[in-house]
Amino acid sequence: MEKFDILLELQQIDINIDEEEKKKKFLPLKVEGIAREMEELQNNQRNGRAHYKELQIKLKKRELDLSDKCSKIKKHQEDLYGGKITDIKELRQLQKVIANYEKEKENIEDELLNLMEESEELNKSVKKIEERLHEKEAYLLKCQKDMERTALEIEEIMNSLNLKREKILSKFNDNRLLKAYEVLRKEKNGKAIVEVNSSICPGCYLDLPSDVIYHLKQNQTIIACPNCNRILIWKE
Ligand SMILES: [Zn+2]
Repeated sequence: MEKFDILLELQQIDINIDEEEKKKKFLPLKVEGIAREMEELQNNQRNGRAHYKELQIKLKKRELDLSDKCSKIKKHQEDLYGGKITDIKELRQLQKVIANYEKEKENIEDELLNLMEESEELNKSVKKIEERLHEKEAYLLKCQKDMERTALEIEEIMNSLNLKREKILSKFNDNRLLKAYEVLRKEKNGKAIVEVNSSICPGCYLDLPSDVIYHLKQNQTIIACPNCNRILIWKE
């Protein structure tokens, strides 16, 4: 029957429209993924920079501590060698104090070295993050452009498919069959009408009763698969 051929044509167009819609739906996923990666990098960059700032403040503080120790040592050494203090006990006490300061000074110097090393490493890793961010940014722009182009292509294909659909519908006058087709297609999420050329329904892969095959071959009435309800068309 001619209306079955039209319905089959309609179904193919509907399947194509579904495919385009699926493509459209998944289109932003790539760009969204890159944006998420960039967000993570930006977080790392922010944390790295904040940590670097903290280290610089710590470094400055320890440098001040160091110069404080140095001037204290210098002052006590002046006292020690200045000749004003003659008491042996007092001089020994002064030597002890200087030795303590020297020890503290050494500790601060070690700490300063470690801090400088740490801050250099941090600086390097923040720079690396920045480079990766730049790369990602360029990649994101490229993907966005690709996405926009593909979206336009999909739009064009959908427009032409919808035009074809309207044209086919204008030729179709069996509203009841059309309604049944629409409901079935929604229900089956794909093919509502299937072409049969053996005793097996291509929709559900189950055997069809012989009377169904017989009527199908007569090709005169609408026959639904007794199992899956799909509209059956006999195709030699
Ligand atoms: Zn079936």
